[in-house]
Amino acid sequence: MEDTLTVDDKFSALIRHWTQRVEALKDDDLYFYNQPIEELCGGVKVRTHGREMLMFASYSYLGLIGHPKINAAAQAAIETYGTGTHGVRMLAGTLALHSELEATIARFKGTDDAVTFSSGYVTNLTAIATMVGRHDIVICDKLNHASIVDGCILSGADMVRFRHNDMDDLERCLKKADPRAAKLVVVDAVFSMDGDVIDLPTTVELCQTYGAYLMVDEAHSIGVLGERGRGIEEHFGLTGVIDLKMGTLSKTIPSVGGYLAGRADLIQMFRHASRAFIFSAALPPAQAAAAKVAFEVIMEEPERVLQLRRNAARFISGLKGLGFDTMRTETAIVPVMCGTDERAFTMTRHCQRDDIFVLPVVSPAVPEGQARLRATVTAAHTLADIDKALEVFERAGKRTGLL
Ligand SMILES: *Cc1c(COP(=O)(O)O)cnc(C)c1O
Repeated sequence: MEDTLTVDDKFSALIRHWTQRVEALKDDDLYFYNQPIEELCGGVKVRTHGREMLMFASYSYLGLIGHPKINAAAQAAIETYGTGTHGVRMLAGTLALHSELEATIARFKGTDDAVTFSSGYVTNLTAIATMVGRHDIVICDKLNHASIVDGCILSGADMVRFRHNDMDDLERCLKKADPRAAKLVVVDAVFSMDGDVIDLPTTVELCQTYGAYLMVDEAHSIGVLGERGRGIEEHFGLTGVIDLKMGTLSKTIPSVGGYLAGRADLIQMFRHASRAFIFSAALPPAQAAAAKVAFEVIMEEPERVLQLRRNAARFISGLKGLGFDTMRTETAIVPVMCGTDERAFTMTRHCQRDDIFVLPVVSPAVPEGQARLRATVTAAHTLADIDKALEVFERAGKRTGLL
């Protein structure tokens, strides 16, 4: 007999799967997601469930959330423009503020022009789907962010993946690709689970040799990499080697949205051909103003970037000194390897009970057996904050049997 599962059974099973997974964790007191933050207390403390905790799960790498200049710009934008736009950018939605924001991003990134979208996720979807389609090839690092993967699927292009940061494998993929097909290579600058940095010089060289276009996602790279926080090109002392630079306005930049930066004609194309630009509303005025001023603050206060670097170095070397495995991170994203999902949950519980706000990453976000805490350092942490976290991690590691 044919499979007799009804549509209703299928959906019930799906919902039941997720209900059971969440309930099982809650029953064991191991559920840490979607924790409501009630209050920000100073730079790096948060109040959740009535308790003050030290934040080690923030993407606000330069500590810019709540910066007085940025807040003031957002408030002034509401006074001038109100809280919404008149719809999509192409029709009545483009404000002078959007053009100013895009000019500021282009200046920061050293490109001709930039264009913004309503989220980083959507920026990746639309960038890839605009650039490539059926009969084209998109080549990705295996650990690329989910939004890049989804963009590849949406595009309909042939998706090929190379081993993480393995340049021989990238070359193999480029060699094997049909020489007549258009090829787009997409990589993260800093990988969001491991904190390591793509080998940009070799990636660029290979793209040039094999005639591929290069797009780099700098979600965790702006404000973090390079002396002045300009990102991965500055980190490697290269300029203008990336065809399309993508970034988000929701991490180092305390706003929301995403951008693409590059050559004038390329960016102009996105303003007319990318569906997320044509069919989705413009960034709200307050968020556009906050983002613009945030880029200016990074340019005016470059010491924040150095502070972040010092803090990350101290935190990583402290963890390594205690005997933790932090993979190959050299950035503000610091994986603390735990092995099984259960161990990662237990570590989290110990840390959170000692008032360190840190979160676990488990399968399927990372491969089975590579569960970890993903701790992030920011420029707003003091040395005392970092030392306190190290103490708590050490105690938790011993209790969990990791140390
Ligand atoms: C966070 C993130 C995005 C998505 O950005 P949002 O603005 O949060 O939608 C894209 N790529 C990477 C690597 C990210 O870490």
